[in-house]
Amino acid sequence: MINLIIFNEFIDEKERETVKAVYPDGIHTVLKQGLQCEEINIKTVTVDNVNEELSEEVLSNTDVLMWWSHVAHDRVSDDTAKRIQNAILKGMGFISLHSSVHSKPFRLLMGTSCDLTWREEDDFEFLWVCDPWHPIAQGINRYIKLEHEEAYGEPFMIPPPDELVFIAAYEGGEAFRAGCCFNRGYGKVFYFQPGHEEFPTYKNPEILKVLKNAVKWAAPQTRISELSSPNVKKPILL
Ligand code: ZN
Repeated sequence: MINLIIFNEFIDEKERETVKAVYPDGIHTVLKQGLQCEEINIKTVTVDNVNEELSEEVLSNTDVLMWWSHVAHDRVSDDTAKRIQNAILKGMGFISLHSSVHSKPFRLLMGTSCDLTWREEDDFEFLWVCDPWHPIAQGINRYIKLEHEEAYGEPFMIPPPDELVFIAAYEGGEAFRAGCCFNRGYGKVFYFQPGHEEFPTYKNPEILKVLKNAVKWAAPQTRISELSSPNVKKPILL
């Protein structure tokens, strides 16, 4: 059983009619419904209590943390972001969605600004599979077409990904590294671009398939209980 926590700010859905119309109960609720299955045990957290909920103990019992954020990155404390980073270095998986490129945990993990270009004009998006052998792309054909998405564009200020699973192309011509895998310590990190709050992207069965694959891929195979650099004292060969 994989223990998954889905974090969503749950602010846009309450404050903007255009978002409320698509996700009346919040993005986290739709993701929870879409990812529910026998192998995944799901809990959700919103920004109101994120700093209390994501304690070291909770994180050490969490296999994968999924993160959607947009307007309230600062309400996640620096301590919470650091706890998340440490949990990932020790083996927890992390899935960063859409505008959470600017969240504190993702920026800590990347060590860069994670800036990009963006344009909200209801473009269609082609999400091309560039690594068909990758576990996250299983069950997906050559591409996923989304009728409407926010167009993100390069340059995307991240370090080179360890694996690139999807590249996006948009109606306006932009290209973007939209499905990127990173190894951080013992933990696996996946960034996935689709998921603008005004479009029903997280109700799309193919997108949910990718996210379910990603949860399984990111679940830890090896976990350590403490970060350390032991002094081994003796050379191995003597
Ligand atoms: Zn957006």
